[in-house]
Amino acid sequence: MLSLYLDETHVALQEAATRWVEREVRPHAEAWEEANAFPRALYAAAGAAGLIGATYPEAYGGAGGDVFHGMVITEALVRGGSVGTAVGLGSHAIALPPILTMGTEDQRRRFVPPVIRGEKVAALAISEPGAGSDVAGLSCRAVRDGDVYRVTGSKTFITSGARADLVVTAVRTGEPGHGGISLLVIEKGTPGFSVGRSLRKMGWWASDTAELHFEDCPVPAANLLGAENAGFLAIMANFVPERLLLATIAVAMARLALDEAERYVREREAFGRPIVGFQVVRHRLAEMATREAAARAFVASVAERYRRGEDVIAEVAMAKNHATDACLHVCDQAVQLHGGYGYMREYVVERLYRDARILPIGGGTSEIMREIISRRLGYGR
Ligand SMILES: Cc1cc2nc3c(=O)[nH]c(=O)nc-3n(C[C@H](O)[C@H](O)[C@H](O)COP(=O)(O)OP(=O)(O)OC[C@H]3O[C@@H](n4cnc5c(N)ncnc54)[C@H](O)[C@@H]3O)c2cc1C
Repeated sequence: MLSLYLDETHVALQEAATRWVEREVRPHAEAWEEANAFPRALYAAAGAAGLIGATYPEAYGGAGGDVFHGMVITEALVRGGSVGTAVGLGSHAIALPPILTMGTEDQRRRFVPPVIRGEKVAALAISEPGAGSDVAGLSCRAVRDGDVYRVTGSKTFITSGARADLVVTAVRTGEPGHGGISLLVIEKGTPGFSVGRSLRKMGWWASDTAELHFEDCPVPAANLLGAENAGFLAIMANFVPERLLLATIAVAMARLALDEAERYVREREAFGRPIVGFQVVRHRLAEMATREAAARAFVASVAERYRRGEDVIAEVAMAKNHATDACLHVCDQAVQLHGGYGYMREYVVERLYRDARILPIGGGTSEIMREIISRRLGYGR
């Protein structure tokens, strides 16, 4: 991230995370991507290295850091060469915040520390087969029955869904629309909770993405986060750090693709000289570097405003779209500069090109980002 916003604690964490990734992730990145999984033990290793808890309160085992501590870790993980591993390890970042902001003290103490230690895996389940962008249209139902909610319905596309020990799940407890949605923590092993298919996908191969099914699943009412029917606003609030995270991933991927391309054009020769000797190649790199730098600066400036507690809902949506566009451009051009090798599986840029395509879809599509921006800026009035 931009050094402008980092102090010595961020820099120290960045260095430690980079060393850890070089040792624990990079040597295995390609194998894990090809195997569609990274070892479960990596969570505990990351937890012990302080890479899961960096931004969570010390009271629950975290280090009490800010958004930039999370961003430097994310960038280090992405630079390890397996974005799937980075997002799989990082699913806690979208699952734990609702527990911390809405949960009771007992819920926080029960659910958060084991995830920070890497003993348990947390996932966030909002999307359903019939409702993605339209969160208010979700239909997974939870009906109160004494001390439990009986949950029936399905979720899909859930990152870390197959591995998760606890799933922060959006359910319908009330009327249709946004006013009838609640968040429940559903634990693995609850009767009626099953994991469906692990989904095969274009990129992020090392991360597990799963369908989840609930059939008359009795979830303790003590696992309700906040008040009944108050989930929608919490989900919307949670999207802000999630989108910052995705924008950070986009910037980190763009940088990695640019570095790979620069290295390659210095080594590859054509017509008797390294291809970096062609002006068109240098200009392509110059354009890639410009877009990456602009995206990095924009994302960091929005993160700084978020750190200061400003309302940045529109700006985060802009940053996600802008960084995503930059990332898609840079990854595409990096493949082009590699020629035929850029199409081969053993080259990192081939993977980055595939991995990048989810960024304008996940965490809210680019169309939904523009909808948010136009509404927040009052263009509909
Ligand atoms: C790899 C991966 C990981 C994911 N991880 C998670 C996760 O951990 N947890 C989770 O809950 N979800 C997760 N998702 C789901 C993701 O958030 C959704 O896919 C996304 O929000 C889009 O929803 P959808 O797929 O239902 O598309 P739809 O909502 O059906 O959209 C289809 C198209 O219609 C467009 N569209 C829809 N509404 C409008 C509108 N009002 N105006 C203009 N255009 C519109 C969309 O932009 C899109 O182009 C993940 C998805 C993937 C692929």
